Order: sequence, then structure tokens, then C-alpha cells
Amino acid sequence: MVFDQATLDKGPLGSALGSGYAVNREGLKWTRDLKKEIQAGIVKCSSTMKGLATEIGVPPENLEETVQKWNSDMEAGRDSLFGRPLRAQGKGTYIYDAPELSAAIEKGPYYAIEMFPILVNTQGGPKKNVKAQVLDAFNQPIPRLYCAGELGSMWGPIYQGACNIGEAMIFGRIAGRAASSEKSWD
Ligand SMILES: Cc1cc2nc3c(=O)[nH]c(=O)nc-3n(C[C@H](O)[C@H](O)[C@H](O)COP(=O)(O)OP(=O)(O)OC[C@H]3O[C@@H](n4cnc5c(N)ncnc54)[C@H](O)[C@@H]3O)c2cc1C
Repeated sequence: MVFDQATLDKGPLGSALGSGYAVNREGLKWTRDLKKEIQAGIVKCSSTMKGLATEIGVPPENLEETVQKWNSDMEAGRDSLFGRPLRAQGKGTYIYDAPELSAAIEKGPYYAIEMFPILVNTQGGPKKNVKAQVLDAFNQPIPRLYCAGELGSMWGPIYQGACNIGEAMIFGRIAGRAASSEKSWD
């Protein structure tokens, strides 16, 4: 993720929300100006885009071209590469209610941070009802199809400690009971 000083000035990059050893046991918190993170090498920073490219090990012309494309997309109000929403629709669903999800990258210093999946859970998957029946796109149960556990978990975007196992056991029982009471095809 690449962003500029104007974006950083708008709000903190990280939040106190989260789980894991560093947050829970070591009391680590994101600094507002990212000084600590830059010092630790987690966040890269440079006054120029070229310098940032060197910091993150990519060809400067590629980064410059990508940022230019991104900025012209911002001006046009459309992410032509990935079609991501640029503004939040309705009330924010996560931590902040900021309407802006994206911004042009215009004025240094520039920052970059490597993004990769770190969550311990994948809460996505099919939608299910209270009977553990998997629902189709019209919210109708798909006959004889059940799910339980992390696949299509009922939990939202925030990981809830000690809840997945409980859910897996509860919906496992519900799904198992319902599946075993289906009429045999034979
Ligand atoms: C580090 C960590 C900490 C966690 N802490 C907690 C906690 O404190 N409390 C809590 O409630 N939850 C916690 N969870 C979440 C919880 O462990 C999981 O949500 C839960 O185990 C999911 O159970 P599941 O049966 O749905 O899936 P899984 O346990 O992932 O089981 C899926 C199984 O399917 C098998 N499989 C995959 N593909 C195939 C295939 N093609 N053919 C055959 N088998 C296949 C896999 O090998 C696996 O055995 C934690 C998870 C992690 C990773």
C-alpha cells in the first residue's frame, strides 16, 4: 500500500483494534507519525516516489506509472484497474466512519507498507440460516446442503476470540442432525 503525507495526516494508519501477541502481550500500538514503524522497517518512507521505489525494491518507472494511473483514476472517480469502491457506501462498517476509502497520491513524503493476509480466520463463505442450510443468492435454502464451522461463519469482519469453536460445535450439531434426518435418495 502506497500513500502520501496528506493521507497520513487524515488519520492513523493502524488502530488499537486487533489481536495477536504484539498487541495483547507486548502492548504494541501504532505511532501516529509512523516514526517507530519506519525505524523498524515495517513502513518505508521517502521524499520522492523514485526513492520509495528503491526502498521497496521495484523499478521506479513502474511505480511512477502506476501512481500516475491511480491518480488519474481518482480524478475520474473510478478505479479502472480493480473496480474497488472509492468512497464508503452508507455508514462505515468497520472501525472508522470516514467516507473516503481512497485518495490520490500527490505530495511527498511518500510511504509504503507491505500488505498480506494476517488474520487467523477466513470468515467468508456461503451464507447459512439458523438450520445450517446453505442459502442461494436469493436467500433460499439449497436442498440437502449444510455447512458449519469457519466456512460461512456467522461472525462479521472482526475476529471474536473463543467464538469460532463454539459456533463450529453448535452449527456442527445442527447441521449433522438436520442432514441425518433428510430422506434417503435410495
Ligand atoms: C492461530 C489461531 C487461533 C485461533 N484461536 C481461536 C480461539 O481462541 N477461539 C476460537 O473459537 N477459535 C479460534 N480460532 C479459529 C478456529 O480454530 C477455527 O475457526 C476452527 O478451527 C475452524 O474449524 P473448521 O472445522 O471450520 O475448519 P478447519 O479446522 O480448518 O478444518 C477444515 C479441515 O478440512 C481439511 N481439508 C481442507 N481441504 C480439504 C480437502 N480438499 N479434502 C479433505 N479435507 C480437506 C483440512 O485439512 C482441515 O482438517 C483460531 C484459529 C487460529 C488459526
